[in-house]
Amino acid sequence: MPDATLTLRVHDTLSRRKVRIEPREVRGRKVLRLYVCGITPYDSGHMGHAFTFCTYDILVRFAEAAGIRVRYVQNITDVDDPLFERARRDGVDWMELAESQTALHIRDMGALGWRPPDVMPRVSEEIAPILRAATRLNARGYAYQTNALYFDASRYRGYGRLSRRSRLSMIRKLRHEGLLGTVGPGAKRDALDFRLWQPSAPGEPAWPSRFGPGRPGWHIECSAMAMRYLGEQIDIHGGGRDLTFSHHESERAQSECLTGKVPFARVWMHTGLVRYEGRKMSKSLGNLVFVSQALERAPAAAVRLYLASHRYGRDWDFSWSGLARAARLAARLNALLAGEKAGVGPSQTAKSGGVGPKIGMSAAGRRLVVQFNNALADDLDTPRAIRILREATRQREADAARWMLGILAGTASLT
Ligand SMILES: [Zn+2]
Repeated sequence: MPDATLTLRVHDTLSRRKVRIEPREVRGRKVLRLYVCGITPYDSGHMGHAFTFCTYDILVRFAEAAGIRVRYVQNITDVDDPLFERARRDGVDWMELAESQTALHIRDMGALGWRPPDVMPRVSEEIAPILRAATRLNARGYAYQTNALYFDASRYRGYGRLSRRSRLSMIRKLRHEGLLGTVGPGAKRDALDFRLWQPSAPGEPAWPSRFGPGRPGWHIECSAMAMRYLGEQIDIHGGGRDLTFSHHESERAQSECLTGKVPFARVWMHTGLVRYEGRKMSKSLGNLVFVSQALERAPAAAVRLYLASHRYGRDWDFSWSGLARAARLAARLNALLAGEKAGVGPSQTAKSGGVGPKIGMSAAGRRLVVQFNNALADDLDTPRAIRILREATRQREADAARWMLGILAGTASLT
């Protein structure tokens, strides 16, 4: 299938519509600029993280197979309250904790066969651009300084539109997450205002600035890093759905105030939450299934196929039986592919600019690949893509199956 006919659409959280992705041309080549909010490196990665990052991996691989160059940035939030709290509790240096957990994240995702982001900026190494962004917001009148430098959310008319929350609902969520802080003289003027720069607590790192020594607030980092590495406007901004409010709402507001350019992100794309035994997988509930635990029980490609068997935007329940079912598919694929000599995979065809293998594939295999591409082009419908992969396996279309596996599971191991 030639890429000219491929129209990738993804669901945009802001407009609640499927939006056509049309990367702009840079020097004769389409470049898709993708920013995904990464981890706070203080604990091992769980299946919720894997679901988010593997979803964007499929998007990246699919776009690249269609001949679109992707510039992919995923940050590391290594200046953050949960990290400092954990370091204090465990009596370790925050930098060492961040370093070791970042390495684990990269190892986990490597095992899951991701195509690594082009840039993984760390907040601790991006203080200068973050401060420039805060200074510019202040100079433009969107910030004020009391006990910290705050963004004045009332200056941005659409605050709350991305998450479709009322003022009351936003305040409730901030309170629930312990992010509301103090409102009043000497503190923030309004409950929805948020910190751009704040004094550091004892034991936390502090950098000098015109607003006093301190550290960035949570949201400004992503605006600053997205703009530094991708420009003032980006194509897709991704992350887990729990980030829609307050993180992405705030990021959108401050980014558009910073540059005056609308929109900051053409598409906001969010992944659903992964539950375990009926409840959201979360640290506070202690019901996490770590990536490493899943990899002990099943081959990496099986974990990928299991994740991909769920619609990316919906919440779903992790189950070991579901993973076992994906492992059976992986075993059948392994048997099929081991019996065939290496065919044409995504890596070989990517340069030709088309989606799908072109040489040496049967007509039936090509038909299946077209169906597969159509499924992914339609808001990354991975469950449908998996059904087509199962069909290719049943029909023993090894080349087609190999192609599909390359998109859905990257380089993850089948055994
Ligand atoms: Zn972010």
